[in-house]
Amino acid sequence: MLIIKNLELLISVIVALVLGFMNVLVHQSQCEINTHRNNFFFAAPAPPVLEAGSAGAKKSQLVSNSVVSKQICVSQEMHQPVITASMSDIERVLVQHGLINVNSIAPEIRVDLRYATPNNFTGKVLYVGLRKCYLQPEAAEMLAQAQQALQAKHPNYHLLILDCARPNSVQEEMWESIKNTNKNRYVADPKKGSIHSYGAAVDLTIIDSVTGQELDMGTPFDYFGSLASTSSQYVEGHMAAGKLSEQAYQNRLILQDAMKSVGFIALESEWWHFNAFNKSMVKQKYERIN
Ligand SMILES: [Zn+2]
Repeated sequence: MLIIKNLELLISVIVALVLGFMNVLVHQSQCEINTHRNNFFFAAPAPPVLEAGSAGAKKSQLVSNSVVSKQICVSQEMHQPVITASMSDIERVLVQHGLINVNSIAPEIRVDLRYATPNNFTGKVLYVGLRKCYLQPEAAEMLAQAQQALQAKHPNYHLLILDCARPNSVQEEMWESIKNTNKNRYVADPKKGSIHSYGAAVDLTIIDSVTGQELDMGTPFDYFGSLASTSSQYVEGHMAAGKLSEQAYQNRLILQDAMKSVGFIALESEWWHFNAFNKSMVKQKYERIN
């Protein structure tokens, strides 16, 4: 009798294990189908701006053993890249790398790309024909979730995007403008690469839709100096000296709370910059956009 009961238990365990394994296989094959679809897209005839080689190869790699990976399997199917005749050259390059327009999944997010206008530290227009925020689908979905988290607590607040994907050629232009100055520690050397150039970083602030005003974050975007830092090493001193107000400090916390709650990693030296993943993971998952 004991032997039979043990046998039944053993069979139950084996059946459970087999079913679990099959479930994993089904999930993986669904991911692979989506991956193949993306690769198929990249194998299609390319518009003139497309560089040789498959930019989609790394992009399609999936993170295993994480909640994010399950979302991505679904999202890759949802976000099939489409190039339209009205797209500028820079937009085509971004879409060919698998990036998506954030507003296509989160229309409530506001976008004001500062490098698309002379209103930036270089004083030049660095993006010709780009007004939309393009990101890797995973990062875009995280950003959509961050907007939801923000609005759940502050119904009038909207994320205001200042920069998203940034081709490395633009990074080179930025670097040229400051490389021989004391500001060079605030701009990534294009040889090392910026996470913006992989479509996995975003610069942003918050705008209040009632007042139409951006929240006071203590400094403007791209302020080069420790006043833009969120490190307590600097914040406490600046607040004590009256350079950083309590309101600005609280506003930074609101932005950080919304972004960190969905997995973004804040950059301490710039209150506006957030990475979707750490640098080594980004380089493993994605191709740099040149
Ligand atoms: Zn940035």
